[in-house]
Amino acid sequence: MKAVVYKGPNDVSVEDVPDAKIERPTDVLVRITATNICGSDLHMYEGRTDFEVGRTFGHENMGEVIEIGNGVDAVKIGDRVVLPFNISCGFCKNCERGFTNYCMTTQPDPVGAGAAYGFAGMGPYPGGQAQMLRVPYGDSNCLRLGDDAVEKQNDYVMLSDIFPTGYHATEMAGVIPGDTVVIYGAGPVGLMAALSATIKGASKVWVVDRRPDRLALAEQIG
Ligand SMILES: [Zn+2]
Ligand SMILES: [Zn+2]
Repeated sequence: MKAVVYKGPNDVSVEDVPDAKIERPTDVLVRITATNICGSDLHMYEGRTDFEVGRTFGHENMGEVIEIGNGVDAVKIGDRVVLPFNISCGFCKNCERGFTNYCMTTQPDPVGAGAAYGFAGMGPYPGGQAQMLRVPYGDSNCLRLGDDAVEKQNDYVMLSDIFPTGYHATEMAGVIPGDTVVIYGAGPVGLMAALSATIKGASKVWVVDRRPDRLALAEQIG
């Protein structure tokens, strides 16, 4: 299959890599139909991390299930799914408390916690900027979508990271109806925080940035 491979700082290319495949009974194999480039991909792309040369990028993924391991219950072949960027088991102490970003099962480093696809320091998992992706613990990690999954995939793919990340900022800030909210930075996460603040009923949302193109997008949100 083809995938986006890290060659070194500021150097990536689309190359042939071994096909993703089912490796454990709890795995799901997904044919990627949409994937994003994240701002945090740039940390690795620009050589600011210890991301290993030869690894593949892509932690914001959605697609169609094409194969399941024989221990998978909830997910079926043909399902359209979006995958959170964190890979979690669903049954460890942290996952049970809802802290799936600190899963203790999927991070191989015993003093660490948390895993992600194609990410420095977050386990050995290949990324989804590729034709196929192996999803460990598929029952825990696949969000199954409805009939409009294909038509609205450019929206749904945002559920992999950017939208919930922006929404989480408004959770942590305790935004309630009637609030005035100021958001610094109108990148994708900032824009999704602005959208989330309006969803939560903020009466006024300010977005601060020095780039006119980003501010124009913020204006579209209202
Ligand atoms: Zn991301
Ligand atoms: Zn876990």
